[in-house]
Amino acid sequence: TMSSSKKDIFMVIGGSGFLGRHIVQQLLDRGDIVSVFDIVQRYSDVPFYSGDISEEEQVAAALRKCGATCIIHTASPPAGLSDPALYWKVNVDGTKAVIAAAQSVGVRKLVFTSSAGVVFNGSDNIDVDERLPFPEKPMDAYNESKAKAEEAVLAANGVNGLLTVALRPAGIFGPGDRQVMAGLYQVYERGQTHFQIGDNNNLFDWTYVGNVAYAHLLAADKLQEPLVDTDSSKLTPQEEAIIS
Ligand code: NAD
Repeated sequence: TMSSSKKDIFMVIGGSGFLGRHIVQQLLDRGDIVSVFDIVQRYSDVPFYSGDISEEEQVAAALRKCGATCIIHTASPPAGLSDPALYWKVNVDGTKAVIAAAQSVGVRKLVFTSSAGVVFNGSDNIDVDERLPFPEKPMDAYNESKAKAEEAVLAANGVNGLLTVALRPAGIFGPGDRQVMAGLYQVYERGQTHFQIGDNNNLFDWTYVGNVAYAHLLAADKLQEPLVDTDSSKLTPQEEAIIS
């Protein structure tokens, strides 16, 4: 017979969002089983669990139902809001709730979308890598909450059988973006285009959304070989139900 294929069963948290949707699409395209957990539903081609990540029980219940072996956590309020409490609730407490739910349900892998902003304090970062410490004075509440979330995710690596990784994208562009192009267009509409910042040689990293999504799939695959044998007759009833 052909060699059996072992695959993870994925839960994309924030899977209705810009990046999350691209991750869902790439998982579907390669034939993986994927569900979405989000506060809003925008697509109906995959199982959807409505819930808030700051409610651990809602996350745990969805994980149990979909039988996830790997969580890809992309949920966050958008950057630029003046609501520090919301960032803290969703990004810090919510991410800790995701970790706790993953550990209580026995999920093996957690891939977290952090942000390049966690090491930005307003001055240039040139040729830096992940050894650069977080700035003593964070840029703003969004970036501080992303840093705290990342810290919690990495501290959970290897605890109760959970393997974790955090990715730090910079600016993301591409189809489905609702923030960057909309913001640029508002600047244009308000006639705010007649000034420049610095000497017009400022650099900023941008990555195409499809590449950021693909990085998440690669990170998930690299954390550990999948254990679920989708060709085997030795599936749990839960796995059987999901796959069939
Ligand atoms: P997005 O707003 O399009 O998607 C985020 C999703 O999370 C939305 O569908 C939203 O409904 C969901 N969500 C928000 N709060 C939630 C909660 N409490 N419980 C469950 N779901 C919730 O944003 P995006 O641009 O796709 O960003 C995805 C991730 O990438 C975020 O973690 C963000 O911090 C990170 N990031 C984005 C950029 C960028 O340029 N867009 C850059 C760096 C990092």
